[in-house]
Amino acid sequence: MSDWIDFTGKIVLVTGSSRGIGAGMVEAFNRFGARCVVNYVGDPQGRNEADAQRVAAGLKDPVAIECDVSNPASVAAMFDRVQRELGGLDILINNAGIIRDQTIKKISAEDWNTVLNVNLSGTFHCIQHASPMLRPGGRVVNLASVAGSLGLFGQAGYASSKAAIMALTRVAARELARQRVTVNAIAPGFIDTDMTRSMPEEVSKKFLDQLPAGRIGKIDDVVDAALFLCSPHADYITGQVLHVNGGFHMAG
Ligand code: NAP
Repeated sequence: MSDWIDFTGKIVLVTGSSRGIGAGMVEAFNRFGARCVVNYVGDPQGRNEADAQRVAAGLKDPVAIECDVSNPASVAAMFDRVQRELGGLDILINNAGIIRDQTIKKISAEDWNTVLNVNLSGTFHCIQHASPMLRPGGRVVNLASVAGSLGLFGQAGYASSKAAIMALTRVAARELARQRVTVNAIAPGFIDTDMTRSMPEEVSKKFLDQLPAGRIGKIDDVVDAALFLCSPHADYITGQVLHVNGGFHMAG
């Protein structure tokens, strides 16, 4: 990505930025001048906090905040802290997401609810609390997935949550347009992160065989799309889903 992108003076919050695509996002926005909030969800072993601190250590003036995006009170506290300590927000990337693959016959009600709560409700809570704080010219980018368009086998909860995120993106785009904030989604295909590494090898191979680009996606492929959508060059793009999938799915 060339240096026509400059986020100097901007405040960026990326949910789920302790690793994977989210960590790549804060590293890139920071490299292009933004001050970034690294968000992680606490776990009893403190591993996620350690991951978040490692990511934050590589950034200039970072703020690391523990917040479970599926918990509205926790989300409210995170955005209060951003307002208090950073004075506002310019860019929100709703990246936090989980996967619990099971066929419809086998998935438990608990797993279904957990996926919907983190992926969809988490995105909603963050948009709701960020909306009053987002400054004119602001940006929201939601992480959807190719699964939300195709409905991949064994991904009832995940695919449904991602399809709903696309709908929520369009609603939010209409509602936030009056404050000059754009809202878009990125729908990645198969990207090399912990999430995809946890899939069985034969599933990964099946994906690879169907990729016109001939390779699995890199974190930077998704990050570059977000940098563009958050730049002034995308000022007239809102309510859209940008597919980043090496041609795996070509949407009309
Ligand atoms: P990942 O490596 O599994 O990372 C997920 C991130 O989400 C972690 O930082 C995790 O934080 C965070 N998270 C999970 N639950 C959370 C919660 N309740 N509150 C706050 N943060 C939470 O996943 P990834 O591959 O980078 O995926 C990032 C996003 O892209 C997800 O929305 C995913 O659905 C989407 N996506 C990924 C792919 C792909 O191929 N990788 C494809 C399509 C879409 P902790 O480390 O603190 O647990």
